[in-house]
Amino acid sequence: MSTPLVSQQQKLDNLQAADKQHFIHPFTDSKGLAEKGTRIIERAEGVYLWDIMGHKLLDAMAGLWCVNVGYGRQSIVDAVAKQMQQLPFYNSFFQCSHPPAIELAQKIASLAPAHMNNVFFTGSGSESNDTNLRMVRRYWDLKGKPSKKTIISRVNAYHGSTVAGASLGGMSGMHEQGDLPIPGVVHIAQPYWYGEGKGLTPEAFGLQTAQALEAKILELGEDNVAAFIAEPFQGAGGVIIPPSTYWPEIKRILAKYDILFILDEVISGFGRTGKWFAAEYFDLQPDLITIAKGMTSGYVPMGGVIVSDRVADVIKQDCGEFTHGFTYSGHPVAAAAALENIRIIEQEQLVERVATDTSPYLQSALQQLAEHPLVGEVRGIGLVAAIELVQNKTTHQRFDSSVGAGTFCRDACIKHGLVMRSVGDTMIISPPLTISHSEIDALVAMATQALNDTEQFVQGK
Ligand SMILES: *Cc1c(COP(=O)(O)O)cnc(C)c1O
Repeated sequence: MSTPLVSQQQKLDNLQAADKQHFIHPFTDSKGLAEKGTRIIERAEGVYLWDIMGHKLLDAMAGLWCVNVGYGRQSIVDAVAKQMQQLPFYNSFFQCSHPPAIELAQKIASLAPAHMNNVFFTGSGSESNDTNLRMVRRYWDLKGKPSKKTIISRVNAYHGSTVAGASLGGMSGMHEQGDLPIPGVVHIAQPYWYGEGKGLTPEAFGLQTAQALEAKILELGEDNVAAFIAEPFQGAGGVIIPPSTYWPEIKRILAKYDILFILDEVISGFGRTGKWFAAEYFDLQPDLITIAKGMTSGYVPMGGVIVSDRVADVIKQDCGEFTHGFTYSGHPVAAAAALENIRIIEQEQLVERVATDTSPYLQSALQQLAEHPLVGEVRGIGLVAAIELVQNKTTHQRFDSSVGAGTFCRDACIKHGLVMRSVGDTMIISPPLTISHSEIDALVAMATQALNDTEQFVQGK
């Protein structure tokens, strides 16, 4: 780079000062951030980011679980530019439609499970789950069962940050702010065996947590329950992968009671598990699938709900208007980005590559970290994984939260050139689906260095 570092430092200082004065960041302790200063990312290519000072970082979080095809895709830029020239915006209300949204709905229907052939478009994952809440209630109204209103979710689920999204989610820190959840949303236990399965085998714990669904349905009365919502594996909650017994038992319960099943695939969709959708990976038959993130690889915002024939047949029948939608539902530019994103995934066979190549390589490379004195468990599927930091490997004893082992480890990763996220003391990764073997090797090497630093840090505590 020809720019002298001094002037870059000046630029950084100016931007950080303006950021501190004018920018309220999402999910951020603003005072703490102002003291530390924001990390300013300037450009990206492939799986790498560069901050404003020219530091290179391997982005093992694919942005926020979304940049499935990696950064720097000129063909998405071109598709978006072309669409902007031709039709930058038009709505899909009032008897109108446009080619990119139609083509995208058809394309997604072809990739989704066979019984799902319709899409409702939104601008984000949160808006999609708001849509789900309204759509399942509308469905039951039309079916003549208006008492079926309550949605059962799970503790420590993440379903977005709008009022409905945060209510459907089970994050206590979010519920504390703004009197959430709203009425009509209840939460059952999560299948987090490593954190909460004390004394039980994973299989027994998986059954027990799944059976909480049946107990809740019986407690509320089947006639009052509209739907169950869940992520196939919890993402923001800490990459929590249910024990093998969990989903089969949930399936048994869902088959027994007449309630709808919403599968939130905002993270798992579009190849993350080595299938187009995790519904296929876990052999699930949802009535609604929430999508966003990897749908456009984050190049422009877009979300949606994939709707099963069972629900679509009722919503689309001749019984009046579904009074719901967003200005940007099916936005033509976002749809063009999504179509090109999907074309890339297909052309480069990224889904197959995850299943047969990069997932086995990543998961076995990460198992090396399980030997580390600080690591209690390494778990993962497809291209997501979690590393649990513990004080005592044998007893699973966690660090006191005041130690801040996870936060320290995350910062140490950055120092070594790696973006890995921490959820408490659970380190998580979800890299672009394009990551290569040598990039995976680099990821594991940097993570090892960060774990060594963290080990020293906690010894000094
Ligand atoms: C990110 C996420 C959402 C919310 O999506 P936004 O686009 O941030 O509104 C919903 N569900 C899951 C599982 C997510 O990971």
